[in-house]
Amino acid sequence: MEFDRSPGPAADAGPAGPAAQPVATWQTSLRQAVRSLDELLGMLGLSREELPGLDATSSFPLLVPREYVQRMEVGNPRDPLLAQVLPRAEENLQVDGFGLDAVGDGPSARLPGILHKYQSRALLIATGLCAVHCRYCFRRHYPYEDSPASLAQWDESLRYLEKNPQIDEVILSGGDPLSLGNAKLFGLLGRVASLSHVSRVRIHTRFPVMIPSRIDSDFLERLEAIAFGPEGKPVWIVLHVNHAREIDGPLVEVCQRLRRSGAILLNQAVLLRGVNDTFESQRDLCKGLADAGVVPYYLHQLDRVAGTAHFECDEQLGESIVARLRTELSGYATPRFVREIAGEASKTVIL
Ligand SMILES: *Cc1c(COP(=O)(O)O)cnc(C)c1O
Ligand code: SF4
Repeated sequence: MEFDRSPGPAADAGPAGPAAQPVATWQTSLRQAVRSLDELLGMLGLSREELPGLDATSSFPLLVPREYVQRMEVGNPRDPLLAQVLPRAEENLQVDGFGLDAVGDGPSARLPGILHKYQSRALLIATGLCAVHCRYCFRRHYPYEDSPASLAQWDESLRYLEKNPQIDEVILSGGDPLSLGNAKLFGLLGRVASLSHVSRVRIHTRFPVMIPSRIDSDFLERLEAIAFGPEGKPVWIVLHVNHAREIDGPLVEVCQRLRRSGAILLNQAVLLRGVNDTFESQRDLCKGLADAGVVPYYLHQLDRVAGTAHFECDEQLGESIVARLRTELSGYATPRFVREIAGEASKTVIL
């Protein structure tokens, strides 16, 4: 079952209409994100002839914020940022071993919106919306419509957390949880953080990379209240940066603000053919992250999800890249190279 995630930001961006508050910048950015392939190519001075094999008819539509397009190189059909968002006809190929739920999300769903795969942490599907549509997304076929849509609907599912005291960390994921407005997002995060056996919370997000203005002062204040408030629950934020060119001034500034407000910053990247499949690109990525105060946590071997086979690299390539990173970078700046095997008790560390 596929879910069309195209309705875009308005669904979760808060009240609309003439009586509404002035629209915040990030919500405008999301609304104005590029949704047309021809517009995207036009902005980059590229023609369809230079990029054979495109197909924009997927039910997982093109979505790219303008802030991200600005970091792409004009005239370069092989730009590593462009490659992450470009819908290709190859996505329609049926490839052996690539399925709809490669990572076993389905069997790990407990109550609507709650995935409990690993003993001590539960993952909440906070929303199906994202700031960008990454073509290699491992949840591109996820049935998001089954997850709770409002705080009231979460009531029932959150009771699962109350009944499972072995869960000491709750992860807000999706989709991208920062697609929710601050009131909803921190309503959920606050509820989770107030459980006595939950000692940490985590957010998985690509927003700081895609639309840095999402990290507004209201967000930072609410973050600080959880991190340094009376109960003081650490907030771990896992970013998703795949290439050094995604790290620019606005992202570095946002990382500083997040750290000042108490977040501990990690990154997860995916090893992607044509994007970051060389030693040099991984080295530059890890250095750039470390310089921005972000720990490269995981480098993922691609999850074998239908429509993503053209991004897959040999596992041996990843191993050799990471082995060499380890000889050149600080210990903390070398990510763990992992793959997810459905049914296992944790991610599987390859190296
Ligand atoms: C990856 C994942 C986590 C987090 O795993 P860590 O190794 O702690 O980062 C938690 N829940 C689910 C369902 C996951 O896929
Ligand atoms: S931001 Fe994450 S969930 Fe959203 S499309 Fe990209 S990889 Fe998938």
